[in-house]
Amino acid sequence: MNDDFTGCLLVWCGFLNSWVNGIPVKYNLGPSLSSRVDQRAGDRARSTSDSAQVNISRMLGQQAERVMALGEWEERWQQDRIGFHQPTVHRMLEKNLDKVLNGRTGVRFFFPLCGKAIDMKWLADQGHSVVGVEISEKGIQQFFEENNMTFSEEPVPEIPGAKVFRQNPEKNISLYQCDLFQFSSSIAGRFGAIWDRGSLVAINPKDREKYAALIVSLMDNDCRYLLDTFLYNPDQYRGPPFFVPDEQVRSLFGSSCNVELLQSVDALTDRQRDWGLDSFMENIHLITLKNSSATK
Ligand code: SAH
Repeated sequence: MNDDFTGCLLVWCGFLNSWVNGIPVKYNLGPSLSSRVDQRAGDRARSTSDSAQVNISRMLGQQAERVMALGEWEERWQQDRIGFHQPTVHRMLEKNLDKVLNGRTGVRFFFPLCGKAIDMKWLADQGHSVVGVEISEKGIQQFFEENNMTFSEEPVPEIPGAKVFRQNPEKNISLYQCDLFQFSSSIAGRFGAIWDRGSLVAINPKDREKYAALIVSLMDNDCRYLLDTFLYNPDQYRGPPFFVPDEQVRSLFGSSCNVELLQSVDALTDRQRDWGLDSFMENIHLITLKNSSATK
């Protein structure tokens, strides 16, 4: 394990210290300091990071088998149990948009598991185009109706049973009603940006590798992928949204992508307290393909 990785892991564990019992780690033992510690401290740090890793695996194990069937999501929409929907633009998209655009205009955005996120209209109003994928037809129709947009509806020949709903007359927003795992770059090409809010954290934990491979296959060479994840104690809540530690983000995307943690905020509100949580952090990562023009 390299020092960089050990350092990040220790910082992260320190961060979770209040509820990961028995890990005597410090908050600020970053890579530069860890490279200067003596051999004995180095050994101690290694055994600490080993036990931290065991803890992360145990925490991931808590939700590993949890499955939400597509029908359960549709049921939530039918019953208006959509507490994940926000009536305003996501503050972390707003804050980090410049980093996603990187000076570009007219960017093609992909929204996996889009719901009826208002962010799609916000971006389209700025001259970008949006492609989303969502299983709930009700959610898609509500998006257009609530934003006073007329839309057309067509079948998608490549995906049996799927439909695409397009905004009229501009056609800047196209929402595919299908299972995300049936979607591919052969249907709507690759994208210059991805906003992943409530998507990696919502798919079933056992599908994360498949999900990462699909997302990477949808990234254009200059794609800048903004990913929103949550850190909380999975002993206290079974999800969704699911717990996705930074270490797993790096292991899912690190072989083909650069992964940068842009922002980490305390996002605990009464909603999460009602789930039984006493700590809830929201992290935003910027992911770009290695050796791509997006890193420049
Ligand atoms: N990104 C949205 C919605 C997040 S909640 C927002 O920020 O508001 C997750 C959404 O994904 C739900 O609307 C659910 O209906 C949809 N969904 C879950 N699994 C899916 C799948 N496999 N394919 C397509 N949509 C899915």
